Amino acid sequence: MIRVGVNGYGTIGKRVADAVRAQPDMEVCGVAKRSPNYVAVGATEAGYPVYAADDDRAHEFAAAGIDLAGSVDKLVAESDVVVDATPSGVGAENRPLYEHHDTPALFQGGEDATVAEVSFNARVNYDEAEDADYVRVVSCNTTGLSRFLAPLYENYGIEKARVTLVRRGGDPDQTGRGPINDAVPDPISIPSHHGPDVQTIFPKLDIDTIGLKVPTTMMHVHTVNVTLENEPDDVTEIRDRLRSEDRILTIPEYAGIDGAGTLKDFALDAGRPRGDIWENCVWEESITLRGRDLYCMQAIHQESDVVPENVDAIRALSGHLTGPESRSLTNETLGIGFSRLDGRESRTLDRQTAD
Ligand code: NAD
Repeated sequence: MIRVGVNGYGTIGKRVADAVRAQPDMEVCGVAKRSPNYVAVGATEAGYPVYAADDDRAHEFAAAGIDLAGSVDKLVAESDVVVDATPSGVGAENRPLYEHHDTPALFQGGEDATVAEVSFNARVNYDEAEDADYVRVVSCNTTGLSRFLAPLYENYGIEKARVTLVRRGGDPDQTGRGPINDAVPDPISIPSHHGPDVQTIFPKLDIDTIGLKVPTTMMHVHTVNVTLENEPDDVTEIRDRLRSEDRILTIPEYAGIDGAGTLKDFALDAGRPRGDIWENCVWEESITLRGRDLYCMQAIHQESDVVPENVDAIRALSGHLTGPESRSLTNETLGIGFSRLDGRESRTLDRQTAD
């Protein structure tokens, strides 16, 4: 059993802890939290030993009736691997703590790529993490783009990718974020940082990205244009390749899923924990071919798509399963893949092919 400590128990940390607990070869040895809020109460109710990230605030946990198992230092010492899911920039400050205890660690996409030896996506470069001690699981957007681009890159080659990222203003618990009533170029300059971040996974990929922020907490939506090096036979060939990817859900027309809101409703109906959608959600009707130019739209659930990637990165560090073995085990234990949408054809795509 790989003993996993989670340092930073917020949006990503709590999900990673639950996903780790679902694995047959891992256990959660504890979670470190800074403030004794409702999420900390949830951690104790879930049965996770809670450690204080900040010793000076340990008394606040006692006042809230939360028993502490110790300080974060002890958690790191007792863990085989630490998943650092603290806010952006804090992970880099924590690295000396992990080095001090000789404990391998994962960092998240809010950290600069220099925080770790490898930037990680399970579909693309699992093997590169096998010899590493420190790995950065790339951000939600970079994870979503890497999964989408991988089968295109491998099968057709990519001359140039252009992506516009329409990003949620904040997560549901981020009450102070915005915009409230606007659509904001973010950043105004082009390219946004997302393209260079994708290049930490695909170093030779030519990609430009443009970012905006809009008033929703649901999901990010990407509009993607990829100029392929080699032309596919037809659009259904692309659709079928995307369908066969384990962490891509292609949404057929009949389903009536017309946006991020219906996607979240679908996930809740399907009984997904917290309404999470670990897969990229690609609208089949949006997949369009003009010669070597491919167009498409996909939605990315920012709170959860990196969760299976963290689980796989833990295994990559420990080196006891191959990438495909780990992905398959993670998918099976979490229930990745909405089989209820399988087996239905998409009328619009069939029309495109007939044309
Ligand atoms: P969050 O604010 O929801 O959670 C961070 C947690 O860490 C909170 O519980 C906070 O109290 C705690 N914390 C703060 N300082 C700490 C410290 N010094 N030591 C230990 N814990 C501390 O943040 P998040 O959204 O989960 O983001 C975590 C990381 O994951 C960031 O790098 C972020 O960029 C990345 N990420 C976030 C998302 C997303 O959409 N939320 C998606 C992908 C990646």
